[in-house]
Amino acid sequence: MMKSIARYISLCCLVLFPVVIFSETLTVIDARGGTTVIGTLLFDREEYLPMAELIGPWEGQATWSDIEGRAEVKLPGHTLRLSGENTFFLMDGRSYNLYNPARVYDSELWVPLELFTRFLIPVWGKGVGWDPQGRKLSLGMLDPRQVSIPQARPRLPQETRVIEKVVIDAGHGGKDPGAVGPTRLQEKDINLDIAFRLKTILEDRYGVNVVMTRDDDVFIPLGDRTAIANREAADIFISIHCNAAPKKKRNRSTTRGVETYFLSLAKTDDARATAAMENSAIQFEQPDKKNANFDDIQLILWDVMQNEFLKESSDLAEWIQEALSDGLAVPNRGVSQAGFYVLNGAYMPSVLVETSFISHPEEEKFLKKTTFRQNVAEGIAQGLREFAKRYKCKFGRMEPK
Ligand SMILES: [Zn+2]
Repeated sequence: MMKSIARYISLCCLVLFPVVIFSETLTVIDARGGTTVIGTLLFDREEYLPMAELIGPWEGQATWSDIEGRAEVKLPGHTLRLSGENTFFLMDGRSYNLYNPARVYDSELWVPLELFTRFLIPVWGKGVGWDPQGRKLSLGMLDPRQVSIPQARPRLPQETRVIEKVVIDAGHGGKDPGAVGPTRLQEKDINLDIAFRLKTILEDRYGVNVVMTRDDDVFIPLGDRTAIANREAADIFISIHCNAAPKKKRNRSTTRGVETYFLSLAKTDDARATAAMENSAIQFEQPDKKNANFDDIQLILWDVMQNEFLKESSDLAEWIQEALSDGLAVPNRGVSQAGFYVLNGAYMPSVLVETSFISHPEEEKFLKKTTFRQNVAEGIAQGLREFAKRYKCKFGRMEPK
């Protein structure tokens, strides 16, 4: 109990004191072509706009609830409901999921720019417009590119890319044991051990800053795991798991091997089954969802498909899988894609490693061995190193080659 209270407090601290960097300005255009310059902030690399300053140009009306940081905004023809520290919002009565939560900062509600670019513009069409070059946001049917304003500030040129912070997610934990082997070996314990080994390699060998979603046998909801990565502004997200063949499957005792996943639509029944198994951890959060159909995850995947990190996640999965199959004496099942809840909403290259099959008697035996778990950690680290090399990134303290 104390542990969970401490965890709650530390999560709250993360929420209350996110990384804030003074950003810049953008110009808001109203229906008459009038312009207002507003200051924006960067939280975890996402640009945020102060909601209160948008209401006037938008000719809207807002109802605020200070205590909960909630806002209901009534606009001509539309309604928006947002609340602080929440990635979900309601748009004309339907709920949508942001990568970055709305935030309460300095007693004001701040909304991420993605609210406009990913949702309002595609769904509302011409009612809203964004011109990234001119940094102009139109809230009144005008094409922002047609509205000239005195000097817009240029964006800073992109710096050399750095992989300095990696979030390692040891799958399952606490009341959720994950998959269980023939001799009752629990997936959650193996995942945590491998996560610690990977952390040690990344920190000691490369000087990479590592954040663990859990460093103990505690339960963390699936959505919180990527939320931690987003709040930490991590450069890479890696979720570590052990696979298990479905109980009813006839070849349960022979299905084996190592595979690496990135988030996308499942292409095969096996990939779908693995994702369904990992996603079923949600039953520990919402018992009524035990038999939920995870197709709703597939619904939001159209967005992930266009995600700038899809290619990078797939590359990362490829190089990790290559290193793992070289270093482990288990069959190579290759790279797969599927709709993993835990990877959804991660705003960075992210993969899920299924280190081997805990349901397979021999692989369960391997998983009990220190050397095997160390080799898994080494393989993942090597894959990361390869990613940094190919993308010409600085990797911790190592300069790009
Ligand atoms: Zn798992």
